[in-house]
Amino acid sequence: MKAVVFHKPGDIRYDTVEDPRIELATDVILKVTSTAICGSDLHILSGGVPQTEPMIMGHEFMGIVEEVGSEVKNLKKGDRVVVPFPISCGQCFFCQHQASPSCENSNYKHYGPNGDMMDQKGAALFGYTDLYGGYSGGQAEYVRVPYADISPRVVPENMSDEQVLFLTDIFPTGGLRLIGLSLKGEK
Ligand SMILES: [Zn+2]
Ligand SMILES: [Zn+2]
Repeated sequence: MKAVVFHKPGDIRYDTVEDPRIELATDVILKVTSTAICGSDLHILSGGVPQTEPMIMGHEFMGIVEEVGSEVKNLKKGDRVVVPFPISCGQCFFCQHQASPSCENSNYKHYGPNGDMMDQKGAALFGYTDLYGGYSGGQAEYVRVPYADISPRVVPENMSDEQVLFLTDIFPTGGLRLIGLSLKGEK
């Protein structure tokens, strides 16, 4: 398939790469219909968030379910879904307390001799470097979506991609920022 691949700071290419495949029974493979470029992608492009291996970019995407892992219950082939950018397991303490962006299970890679980067980490993110789990992103024809029963939401037929795509990050992240400012008494 074709995908937008980060190689090194300042060097992002439109490459031919291997198609994603089901790796765990709780995965689905999504055929991407729309994806967005985020301001946060620029942090990777500039080298501000380090990444040493080539990586498929993109944490804001939606699409059609193409293939379903054997344990996925809530989605079926052909469903059109929008996918929030944090990857969450649905089972851990944080996921059970409506704080899934702090999921303890999705970002399982260890860094540093004492795993010190693990202490402050949050959930894994799609296409956001090995620090955030090393998952391929959705600026591609297809993407693997882990824990597919937990975060993806089926989109009503009467809504266009453009009406829901920004639920992946921009809209809820902006909303949280406004809530934070109003709590601090700022406008
Ligand atoms: Zn974003
Ligand atoms: Zn979790």
